[in-house]
Amino acid sequence: MVHPSPAAKPETAAQETYKPGDKVARSGVYTVLHENHGMSYKATLLRGETFPSCKKCGMKVRFALFHTAVHTRDDENFKA
Ligand SMILES: [Zn+2]
Repeated sequence: MVHPSPAAKPETAAQETYKPGDKVARSGVYTVLHENHGMSYKATLLRGETFPSCKKCGMKVRFALFHTAVHTRDDENFKA
């Protein structure tokens, strides 16, 4: 796990992270958290997709939901 101490994370307990292979449950913008290279940045993932592994840190990359966004294909207002 990425959390070193359970006592140190009461503020971030609500922050769910996802790992490669997990199914994307909510479309939105996710913060990409690499293990030990590069910087974190934002990426858009759509519901139904699978979180990808990283070329460099592989399965150690994590994704944290930044904010949700409904894709128009999932929005009743845009269904033909
Ligand atoms: Zn990486």
